[in-house]
Amino acid sequence: MSISHADTACTRDSLSRLDRRAPGKPFLSRTARCCLLLATLLGLSVVKAGPPVLLIHGGAGTLVRDQMSAETEAEIRRTLGLALREGQQVLASGGSAEAAVITSIRVLEESAHFNAGKGAVYDADGGHQLDASLMRGRDRAAGAVAGVRTIRSPILAAQAVMNASPHVLLSGEGADRFAREKKLEQVDNHWFDTPLRLQQFQEWKEKSAATSADTTEAVRRGLLPADRLYGTVGAVALDQSGNLAAGTSTGGMTGKRWGRIGDSPIVGAGTWADSDCAVSSTGHGEYFIRLGLAQRICNRVAFQGLSIAAAADQVIGTELTELGGTGGVIVLGRDGGFAQRFNTAGMYRGWIDAEGNLEVAIYADEHDPD
Ligand code: ASP
Repeated sequence: MSISHADTACTRDSLSRLDRRAPGKPFLSRTARCCLLLATLLGLSVVKAGPPVLLIHGGAGTLVRDQMSAETEAEIRRTLGLALREGQQVLASGGSAEAAVITSIRVLEESAHFNAGKGAVYDADGGHQLDASLMRGRDRAAGAVAGVRTIRSPILAAQAVMNASPHVLLSGEGADRFAREKKLEQVDNHWFDTPLRLQQFQEWKEKSAATSADTTEAVRRGLLPADRLYGTVGAVALDQSGNLAAGTSTGGMTGKRWGRIGDSPIVGAGTWADSDCAVSSTGHGEYFIRLGLAQRICNRVAFQGLSIAAAADQVIGTELTELGGTGGVIVLGRDGGFAQRFNTAGMYRGWIDAEGNLEVAIYADEHDPD
């Protein structure tokens, strides 16, 4: 189900205020009556939505309408909706935020449309090295894997590091070995191959040979389009006990070399959750690491008293942009505040409330009600 919004600033606020009305107050406030009347007159259907309990992203970049077929776009929107619904069902049945984050990310990892799990980008040697991290806000437990090659679901491996090892971050062959010991499903590295990513890898090889710039430099100089490189997936969730969790999973950036590790498995950069605020990021990882971006947003909320939306605006709109980085975040607060912010042309994204009302969006000009 998707939420139809009357495109008026008052709609969602007014409707959610109805739920919090004091006893004895009229059922509909004047503002809400005005909004409903306006929506009715405009022929728009209005669905009451509560605050989100789960947000997801599938990467940010130069996502523009005429570069994506209608079928691909529909398929991507369907998959985002499925990831939201499956995660929300976990929450609705009393499951933890951690379990909901894992459930949603698993759906996206299994989809070839996103740069995580199946469909991961190629590294400079023509293989795949995957990264993931998970953090639980309540006790700040965290787990991550970096540069893994044979684990079908890197986010499950991150969860195993968090819950069944004394460590936070395992890398490379050691992380693959750990996952085998934990009986997590293994696949051949070619299992992650997809024709689209192969084509992008070949384009990268031609361009990088011609420019002799590495991936980071090529993106910075605008020689490689960012959308060809980003596509990480992530989720943030709030469970019925008021606990938050965040997770992120990625293939990294096309053409990465020398054991490069991006922000996605770095707690504080790609992923962060504390008791009040949870973040998952996507974008040019080097900049996110240099800013400690995910934790930086939550610190602005905790120490400066900013709202979730204002903190995300400041860090993405000002700090990341001024540093020259590109990408986006999803942020969820315990108080129901949330934000989906990016400084690229689009970001695959969506949110769902406790009742299952959901919204999915891709382009920057789509309505974001936060
Ligand atoms: N942040 C990821 C990285 O730098 C890339 C992405 O978001 O797609 O590895």
